[in-house]
Amino acid sequence: MALTGLDIYKKLPKTNCGECGIPTCLAFAMKLAAGQAELDACPHVSEEAKEELSEAAAPPIRGITVGKDDYAFKVGEETVLFRHEKTFVNPPAFGVLIEDGLKDDEIEAKVERANKLSFERVAQTLRANVVAVKSTSDARRFVQVVEKVKGATPLPLVLMTEDPERMKAALSAVADGRPLLYAADKDNYEVMVALAKEHGCPLVVREPTGLDALASLSEKVSALGVKDLVLDPGSASSAETFKNLIMIRRAALKKKFRPLGYPVITFPCLEGEDDFMEAMLGGVHVLKYAGITIFNDLEPWKMLPLLVLRQNIYTDPQRPLTVKEGIYEIGKPDENSPTLLTTNFSLTYFIVSSEVEASRVPAWLCIMDVEGLSVLTAWAAGKFIPEKIGPFIKRCGIADKVKHHKLVIPGFVAQISGELEEELPDWKIVIGPREASDLPISLKAWST
Ligand code: SF4
Repeated sequence: MALTGLDIYKKLPKTNCGECGIPTCLAFAMKLAAGQAELDACPHVSEEAKEELSEAAAPPIRGITVGKDDYAFKVGEETVLFRHEKTFVNPPAFGVLIEDGLKDDEIEAKVERANKLSFERVAQTLRANVVAVKSTSDARRFVQVVEKVKGATPLPLVLMTEDPERMKAALSAVADGRPLLYAADKDNYEVMVALAKEHGCPLVVREPTGLDALASLSEKVSALGVKDLVLDPGSASSAETFKNLIMIRRAALKKKFRPLGYPVITFPCLEGEDDFMEAMLGGVHVLKYAGITIFNDLEPWKMLPLLVLRQNIYTDPQRPLTVKEGIYEIGKPDENSPTLLTTNFSLTYFIVSSEVEASRVPAWLCIMDVEGLSVLTAWAAGKFIPEKIGPFIKRCGIADKVKHHKLVIPGFVAQISGELEEELPDWKIVIGPREASDLPISLKAWST
């Protein structure tokens, strides 16, 4: 049973010192109960109270790690229904379904596509996370395919069979990689729990007859000692999956209902009648709370929009993506190369640098730290103004790299050129284009 704000308040020091960033202990207790604060933020809470409050402090959706080492991924630990309330935390894992009835060359091709799926976007690598191997033929073939896939990919595995004997045989080959076991149901859960405990693996709990039955089964499994669970409501249609995803998230966050406080696995591969519908459902599941999403295949045309959607939804809206302040070399610039200035908002950096690259004119790009704001926003916030740009240009060392001392500023802040020349009397300020797409033409003119 989740603790209320008042229960928590009784165990806090009640000094209202404000060191947690919240003015009173009561307000802190209310935020903790709502999953909007961390217990560690109060430095004065006693060890005894910490232990008692651990239930309230635990994330309402348990964090589950699948796999080991570099390719391990974590899902869950979400605390809000809507991204704008705070942020989403752990992006859903994308995986491919491999049925063991497929021919070997088809399996190899699917695994190869999963391995190769990788895109760079705003300094992040977007890629697949998991391979699900499903038993559709006999036990010997299942183990054979599991071993084959393990040898062909560094990605963690989901082992899909409801037959405990098959699961046991497959685990003997791949248990050290901490695969996700799919699935414990009402008939096999005691044996599946024993296997999960023996090998330290997370376990899917599957119950298609309704969320009450699913909650009751997850409680039984948890009581037997396996806490790292993933839920599968086994929905009969895409509409039901959508409804279940929302109800599970709401029950976990709003009602603090622990039996449903786990990530959910979804299968758009089984629900979409063609690739387009599968991709569309995958997008819906990213937006509406899936923890792991399994596709029939990971073709780049289908996955790129989903990877970008996932990246966009799972970035913190309060913390823009940034690049480090400093001087960036585009091409091989020398003392005569143009020098451009812009802000450290990641998207701004990548748009400007790719246009400079496309121009084939080597250039120096001075990136100023304005806490990840774009040019106009940073200027309006008083962070990209002559009084701050001047000291940055002096300390970054660009003056030692060029002899022309001409600095190109973004066209959107043309109005600061006069004042900037007063701040930097040794420099001539050149007003660049407003749009980065016009840079290549200007760069060619400046470099001649
Ligand atoms: S830091 Fe602890 S004692 Fe101080 S106001 Fe916050 S909850 Fe209360």
